[in-house]
Amino acid sequence: MNIPSFKPYLSEKEKKYVIDAMERSQISGDGYYTERVTAFIENSFKAHKALMMTSGTHALELAAILANLGPDDEVIMPSFTFSSTANAVLLRGAKPVFAEVEANTLNIDPADLERKITTKTKAMIPVHYAGVACDMDRLMAIASNHHLQVIEDAAQGVNAKYRGRNLGTIGDFGCYSFHGTKNYTCGEGGALLINQKNTQLIEKAEIIRQKGTNRCQFLRGDVHNYNWLDWGSSYSPSDMLMAVLLAQLEAMQEITEKRKAVYAAYRHAFEPYEKQGILRMMEISSECDANYHIFWVMFNSQAIRDFVLAELKSRGVAASFHFLPLHSSPMGRKMGYKPSDLPITEKSAQGLLRLPLYAGMTEDEYHFVLKAAEAVIGGL
Ligand SMILES: *Cc1c(COP(=O)(O)O)cnc(C)c1O
Repeated sequence: MNIPSFKPYLSEKEKKYVIDAMERSQISGDGYYTERVTAFIENSFKAHKALMMTSGTHALELAAILANLGPDDEVIMPSFTFSSTANAVLLRGAKPVFAEVEANTLNIDPADLERKITTKTKAMIPVHYAGVACDMDRLMAIASNHHLQVIEDAAQGVNAKYRGRNLGTIGDFGCYSFHGTKNYTCGEGGALLINQKNTQLIEKAEIIRQKGTNRCQFLRGDVHNYNWLDWGSSYSPSDMLMAVLLAQLEAMQEITEKRKAVYAAYRHAFEPYEKQGILRMMEISSECDANYHIFWVMFNSQAIRDFVLAELKSRGVAASFHFLPLHSSPMGRKMGYKPSDLPITEKSAQGLLRLPLYAGMTEDEYHFVLKAAEAVIGGL
């Protein structure tokens, strides 16, 4: 048996909706399915305004534009994230500043974030790693004290909550990803949530997203024709992709329940190893309703992690590590960081192991993973 690290959970419905999109001859952006997906997200997640995007990366880029980032501005984010979080800031000519994570969640450490605030700090980008919420009450309080904008990188946090509120709807902006590796996917896609009730800002976002034109207003029937009004780019996804995504979101609870069952089985099976001090499991705080995006464990050293990884691989289980910290990457070094600047991040990235987790995983499959894990970890 071979177990991949992830696998999209696609059904007949996705196919049906894609064919329907084709038959409607509306396959470009902002058609029938984009409208339905947007409404789904706004209603289900209680989002003030959602804009469907070509990727989570583009959602971060548009958020950075709307936050008015520019040269001399600093933006604090964890180093333990995907390159897109930092690129969005760099593309505005602004400076990413990397802060430490907390060892139990690998989410940004609010105390370290606060230490890194300077007169130049304009925003923060907390990343909800593994779909587990950051300490948003504390981060929002810091943001308010220091007049910082908050862009939530909720790429992994779709359908997860913090104190009953959906991730991505708490800060000024929220960024979702629907990439093939994420829980709910259309292959490549994203959404930008704008949580400020600011009509001008939303209009500006719509114009930048549609090549600098007011095509959105035109499609709503607000104006008779559309025109070039300002600078912009092209961020609206094809309606065929939004057809796939609607089917995925309609199956959201089913997908989440299936992932939760695998997560719970892993957690239960790993408890003895945690008690023996061989590893430590990820934590989900009581304030958070998780979406079970990832199940990770932490080993005491990279040598042990790499050994377990290789042994699992040889047994047909595609376990994986995750982000190589941005501050110690070649680009991070070019920016002047050294690995020892963020020791918790560095050590966490070295000890982390993710087990395969996907909605379509059968009981046979996750028992196979657990048997392999038992053979390897039990022999440590
Ligand atoms: C997946 C991911 C992104 C990028 O999303 P894409 O849709 O692949 O562009 C950004 N940030 C984090 C934390 C992610 O996990």
